[in-house]
Amino acid sequence: MAEVLTYERFDTDPFKDIDIDDETKGAYQIIKWAYEHYGDSIVYSCSFGAEGMILIDLISKVKKDAKIVFLDTDLHFQETYDLIDRVKERYPSLNIELKKPDLTLEQQADQYEPALWTSDPNQCCYIRKIKPLEEVLSGATAWVSGLRREQSPSRQNTDFINKDERFKAIKVCPLIYWTWDDVWAYMERHDLTYNELHDSNYPSIGCIPCTSQVSSSGDSREGRWTNFNKTECGLHTANSKPK
Ligand code: SF4
Repeated sequence: MAEVLTYERFDTDPFKDIDIDDETKGAYQIIKWAYEHYGDSIVYSCSFGAEGMILIDLISKVKKDAKIVFLDTDLHFQETYDLIDRVKERYPSLNIELKKPDLTLEQQADQYEPALWTSDPNQCCYIRKIKPLEEVLSGATAWVSGLRREQSPSRQNTDFINKDERFKAIKVCPLIYWTWDDVWAYMERHDLTYNELHDSNYPSIGCIPCTSQVSSSGDSREGRWTNFNKTECGLHTANSKPK
């Protein structure tokens, strides 16, 4: 049996040159490999955005009881929680967990300030997203993310398999070659459910205070942290590539 690819043992991306000329642009191959390779030691951290619906559908085809974690900051739109309920109904055997931060909103307000996201969004993201994901990944070798290369300049160098310095794990990104149009074409072809806010000009949906409606744009990340020089919550800012 091949040695398991881990953060500590990661020299080459085995999928650099795979043929991506299929319906999923390589995503299905990568997901199948990842779940066979890591078994129960891989977690999908899903934000339940549009990309998330694709990954959930593909993952359910290879591992029916896959562990999927939603970082529940307590600040999400009701539409997002409704979507999670619909996904649970459609894929009843998936193991979907809502992971909460250590601090409630009230405790955070007491220890910091009532609307920390307006004064220090990095600290707020650290408490409500990064730390909880650290806890989830402490028991895993690899995690799955829906990053796509076209989403932003900081995501352009993402590979299928990445050495994630932030969480000291392997980060598997099956959708790197997908465009926004690919996402919606797959969604339509497979009649997937999705967050209805996408139909009201919310291309990227996160916490309520940090998500805004956009006029019209081709940028699928537009509308996040609009008043700050911030484009990422910090979950994806420290990848490194094999030498
Ligand atoms: S996205 Fe905004 S509200 Fe959500 S955790 Fe980050 S700063 Fe806080």
